[in-house]
Amino acid sequence: MHQVRTTCPYCGVGCGVVADVEEATLTSVGGDRDHPANFGRLCVKGSALHETLGDQGRLTRPRVDGREVDWQTALDAVAERLAATRQAHGDGAVAAYLSGQLLTEDYYVANKLFKGFLGTPHLDTNSRLCMASAVAGYKRALGADAVPCSYEDLEEAELVVLVGSNLAWNHPVLYQRLRTAKARNPLMRVVVIDPRITDSCEIADLYLGLAPGSDARLFNGLLAFMADRGRLDRVYVDGHVDGLDEALAAAWQDDTSLEAVAADCDLDPEALQTFYYWFASQLHVVSLYSQGINQSSSGTDKCNAIINCHLAGGKIGLPGAGPFSITGQPNAMGGREVGGLANQLAAHMDYDSPGALDRVSRFWATETLTPTLPEGPGHKAVALFEAIERGEVRALWVMATNPAVSLPEANRVRAALAKCPLVIVSECMANTDLLAYADIVLPASSWSEKDGTVTNSERRLSRQRGMLPPPGEARHDWWIIGQVARRLGYGEAFDYTHPAEIFDEHARLSGFENDAAARGEGFRLFDISGLAGLDRAGYDALAPIQWPVNAAAPHGTARLFEDGRFATPSGRARLLPVRPRGPAQALDAMRPLRLNTGRVRDQWHTMSRTGRAPRLMNHRAEPFIEVHPEDALDAGLGDQQLARLKGADGDYLGRVRLAKGQRRGEVFVPMHWTDQFSKRARMGGLLAAHLDPFSGQPESKHGAVALGPLPLGWEATLLVATDLSGEAPWRDEAAYWARIPLAHGERWQLAGGEPDEGAASLDDWLTRLSSWLPVAPALWCTDPTDGRLRAAGVEEGRLRWWLMVGPPAELPGLTWLDERLAEAARGEALAEGQRRRLLAGCDSGEADAGPLVCSCHQVGQQAIVAAIHGGDTSVEALGARLACGTQCGSCIPELKSLIEESAEQEARHARVDQKLEKQAL
Ligand code: SF4
Repeated sequence: MHQVRTTCPYCGVGCGVVADVEEATLTSVGGDRDHPANFGRLCVKGSALHETLGDQGRLTRPRVDGREVDWQTALDAVAERLAATRQAHGDGAVAAYLSGQLLTEDYYVANKLFKGFLGTPHLDTNSRLCMASAVAGYKRALGADAVPCSYEDLEEAELVVLVGSNLAWNHPVLYQRLRTAKARNPLMRVVVIDPRITDSCEIADLYLGLAPGSDARLFNGLLAFMADRGRLDRVYVDGHVDGLDEALAAAWQDDTSLEAVAADCDLDPEALQTFYYWFASQLHVVSLYSQGINQSSSGTDKCNAIINCHLAGGKIGLPGAGPFSITGQPNAMGGREVGGLANQLAAHMDYDSPGALDRVSRFWATETLTPTLPEGPGHKAVALFEAIERGEVRALWVMATNPAVSLPEANRVRAALAKCPLVIVSECMANTDLLAYADIVLPASSWSEKDGTVTNSERRLSRQRGMLPPPGEARHDWWIIGQVARRLGYGEAFDYTHPAEIFDEHARLSGFENDAAARGEGFRLFDISGLAGLDRAGYDALAPIQWPVNAAAPHGTARLFEDGRFATPSGRARLLPVRPRGPAQALDAMRPLRLNTGRVRDQWHTMSRTGRAPRLMNHRAEPFIEVHPEDALDAGLGDQQLARLKGADGDYLGRVRLAKGQRRGEVFVPMHWTDQFSKRARMGGLLAAHLDPFSGQPESKHGAVALGPLPLGWEATLLVATDLSGEAPWRDEAAYWARIPLAHGERWQLAGGEPDEGAASLDDWLTRLSSWLPVAPALWCTDPTDGRLRAAGVEEGRLRWWLMVGPPAELPGLTWLDERLAEAARGEALAEGQRRRLLAGCDSGEADAGPLVCSCHQVGQQAIVAAIHGGDTSVEALGARLACGTQCGSCIPELKSLIEESAEQEARHARVDQKLEKQAL
């Protein structure tokens, strides 16, 4: 066995991972104690990485027009068809759509090919959906797409403001660092600003549940508050910042009294005043913001409203201070470093950066080429698919992302893809919705197979290291792109044999005509020239380091702007005049509810990877809709009932979860479910494509929807052995389905029929089951207590499938059934008494674990509640007894809620007892 140090491929925290590899198998993973992002911690997604590997479900051979072919044929087809498209329709008819999942080296080569050699500016990335507004905000204010802070600043702050960020679920390790720092420093305060009460509120001293989209109004109000009370840092502003008067004038166009701001943000004026006072009176303040700010039609202005307050108060460039945008994806920042956004050229140079076109052209030696570099920016993500719809872009190469799911108006995007004459998809998984639209499919290597670098949210470059061979014929993205470039006649510029060579070129370009000392024309803050010239051994050994890394900062840079010099031409930062705007997606009688979207704790993106780990499916197994209990009541819905949301471009089917943390009139859905996991639960279909005018980022946090019940005649739970789930014909008959991978089979939640058709008879169900499954029902019964049908398919004494008709809320735990499927896979027949238990629908030999709370240690709610009732009434006591909450810590807020609920319940019982006692007296 040997160990490999690498980096987690999920969120922007960028945790270091130590992987144990034994005979070409990754047997376990742990946190890297030496990595400065996580110091040994991993969240549940990171600690399940080894469970998501394996050849099953991987793409292993190239395909052209639906036929498997060899690489030679596939690469020839890509090159010939791209060349033919350019010749017939011009360079601008070809485009690429990349992903923050790609490594920097893959990104670099793709950007160089499309912008440098194919002459098209139309190369954008899914980071547009995540980070583009933060980028535009930083560039406007600070002169560069540069996060000023480090993770240590969160720990050193006196006040941490989480705004539009559910850090506890989306960046769990960073949240745990903050939680620990707060426990150590009782003077630290945390404010959470979010329309929803999330698990991040567990450590909040103050929660502001503002009206969706009112953030800019809130921070404009704060700027005015600071000015009115003499809390601006005039010395800092005079020395380093422009635009204060204009920013204040813009804020003062509205009534900035506490009462007026509070009314517009739907907040309690006293709570607002407390926040304003805390922010204004502390110097060491970090405002950490994420998609709740960025994914808005006014996201850039919201970012600048936050940055304004930091600049005006001098709360930047200091330990524990700064506006900190945290990225969603593992390499969103690395992609931007190479120029992966359509408005960027390369190495933090934009098309309109003075001298940039000439400089990049000389560096890439493209001056003599026809075409030359494109002279202006290309289509940003949403506009790119509109250009495909109009027939202007006719060849699209998508790498490592799934626009058929994640973009707004996802059904319109699918229609555009269907009519695009050439769609090339580089992908590692065989089960994505996008593949249905691909003319050419190229199997790519994945995490644990590829070598390269990523940059996390604090500008820290880390190595991802390959340790396993790619399955079948899968190849690295940089190799695939280079092979196509050679076939197009650009072999000399793409003769890379190893990612170390690409990294070296990238590092050299970052420092090319970039004089950090003189800061004249051509100066870019992004500069890793200090890492140029690494040989393979040096590249392999590269330790995590924060950029800039150059002659002035050979060991990297933890914090930016400490000297008050910014990356603008004048060296001075800029306050922006911000006029608050509400959501662009209007509510009306047809769609009266505000839709919020986001992630769940245990899943990542469209689940193509995390959906392979059964334990990660247990936390939230089905697509859901979180609704305030009174809104649910108004819609005629109860907890766990199936419901339908109708949105701008389609509908969404999910199970209702009553959530008191949801504001009235607002609902929340997760972003993860695709057609691979559910009948119809693609968030993108609910959203209209309203964009931020500066960043082009879609407004994914503020949809407009209608909520109603899903009319149904029946619901059922079906468990099948893996080999029986192939075609899954039950999907055609079901009005709703959700597929939930288990360790040894699959669970399907099904629903269909009409409400008034009456319960299907036993015979009807047996006929239906015989048509669905190749193994006929062998056991069945109708439970006399509830009238529910239960049936099972048994073959040679082994369980092959199991069905119960009825809502899943009535189900006991199903772990025991997964065990029966495991025994069947091993050829073991059902033991004495087990047939009876199949029909009883529970295994009396095992306690029901209830819904999973701690994914790391697989601890269910029932066990936790039992322990609380037994006297373990603290998180620590529960951890000592059950181990829950002791690994990644992500479930600690849920543990606390269960403890509180239990205490409330006991208090209620005590009150009832008292009342009864009095009555008895
Ligand atoms: S917080 Fe979790 S998902 Fe994010 S990088 Fe760390 S281990 Fe991976």
